[in-house]
Amino acid sequence: MGFYREREIAESLAQACRVLAGFNMTDGAHGHVSYRMEDDTMLIKGKGPGQVGLRHTAARDIVKVNWDADMVDGPDDLQPPSESFLHIWIYKARPDVMSVVHVHPKHAVLLTITGKPIVSAYGPYRPGADLARDGVPIYPDARTIGTPEQGEAFAETMGNHNVALMTGHGIASAGDCIERSTMNALALEILCETMVDAYRIGTPQPLPASTWGNRTEQPTETGRRRRGSAGGTEGMLASWRDYVAEAEDRLGSRI
Ligand SMILES: [Zn+2]
Repeated sequence: MGFYREREIAESLAQACRVLAGFNMTDGAHGHVSYRMEDDTMLIKGKGPGQVGLRHTAARDIVKVNWDADMVDGPDDLQPPSESFLHIWIYKARPDVMSVVHVHPKHAVLLTITGKPIVSAYGPYRPGADLARDGVPIYPDARTIGTPEQGEAFAETMGNHNVALMTGHGIASAGDCIERSTMNALALEILCETMVDAYRIGTPQPLPASTWGNRTEQPTETGRRRRGSAGGTEGMLASWRDYVAEAEDRLGSRI
């Protein structure tokens, strides 16, 4: 049973890597997606002599790594990413987090290197603005997170937020499943791209907090809203299918 469960998680992690590549969220083999496993280990996209770009990630490219960032299981030509400590310390600090993404998306990095504030400036019609409601933490160090101390410092900066930026480097996102952490990363980049566009023509203004409190359709006891998007897990999975389909269109292949 263990093997099949791990295999299924590895397939999902690989698909998440391909979706991120479809949305141009990082360059080549940079970036990784992980999932927390039992006994203080995680499954994560491997690096090393046999590494492949995110676009070409398959289940065989996923390795098992312990909390010391040492390889527990995986092919001989792969090894743990140097930034495994980033993932490990988010898991240590946040029992609610089951999956972490680290990538280097263009618009997020542009905002960090210009010091432009990220504000919640549009309504829920478009993903991302809700991530900025309580501000987006920014880790002020562009170096690769390659030590336990750096991992701990980053997790402290991120706190209870599900996304955080790294100055002149990239982003990390977290979620209770692989789909959610990946969509948080995608939504953050949509937010950042909107900010970059808005700063070209003016200064984006934060919306009042009431923007987020007036949803008339609350989920019923079945967990699904009676009108509009389903909400809850069903709504999340519907959004995920949409991202997968769009990534397939962009890449011109099934993922
Ligand atoms: Zn990085």
